Amino acid sequence: MKYIDFHCHLDMEDFDSNREEIVAECFASDFAKLVTVADPYEKNSLQLTGEILGYNKNVFCTAGAHPHNANHYTSQIEKDLLNFLKEKRNRVLAVGEAGLDFHYNFSTPENQRRVFKRQVDIAKDLKLPLVIHSREAEKDVLEILEQAKFNLPLVFHCYTGDIENAREILKRGYYISISGIVTFKKSEYLREIVEIIPLNRIFSETDSPYLSPEPFRGRLNTPLRVRLVAEKIAEVKGIPVEKLNKAVNSNFNRLRKTTV
Ligand SMILES: [Zn+2]
Ligand SMILES: [Zn+2]
Repeated sequence: MKYIDFHCHLDMEDFDSNREEIVAECFASDFAKLVTVADPYEKNSLQLTGEILGYNKNVFCTAGAHPHNANHYTSQIEKDLLNFLKEKRNRVLAVGEAGLDFHYNFSTPENQRRVFKRQVDIAKDLKLPLVIHSREAEKDVLEILEQAKFNLPLVFHCYTGDIENAREILKRGYYISISGIVTFKKSEYLREIVEIIPLNRIFSETDSPYLSPEPFRGRLNTPLRVRLVAEKIAEVKGIPVEKLNKAVNSNFNRLRKTTV
């Protein structure tokens, strides 16, 4: 029973009092890997992520400029990001999260597109996979990837798009990661998408501290709750959770092979 949380934010201050304990608890039970996300807009995040990687050799990370802050992207931020990616290369799984968020539009669409294109180029230059954040923007994200001729492994994290775009993502050989949203009562559309994702294209994640799965919705989320996400995915697919975890582990290892 080896769980993987493919996407969590252990650097966030919600975990200031217990992040080392949480990581220890995951690996003392039945976790194979954790992937924490580093945020170059928060200088402390890069340093803290370096420390978190030191807790256990099965913690990996991604680092990238989130679309929410695209208005604040500077050459210094890019420099910090590049330094981190190179320095931690052996524990970096991908560039990300990067992409477009047209739901919140915290930054202008123009800036989001510009910064996303930079992240795509960085991933290409460093030959790293990409982890995508996309809200109401899947078509635009796919278009930018096509223009950039991006052909390294790529994962849409916390997928909330529609089934047509999911089909297009899968057709291109990309991966889809499913969060605790799959456990929410109103997420029938997402459960239908889970049904069509082949086992060799799927990941499980918490996006903690956000998006606590049922029955803990609205509470602080932790990577430990990826169990509830994986169990729901397995239930929807009508398979034992062991089989799902085995597939997610294979997918992780395939992605990892690109980076080493
Ligand atoms: Zn995200
Ligand atoms: Zn996230």
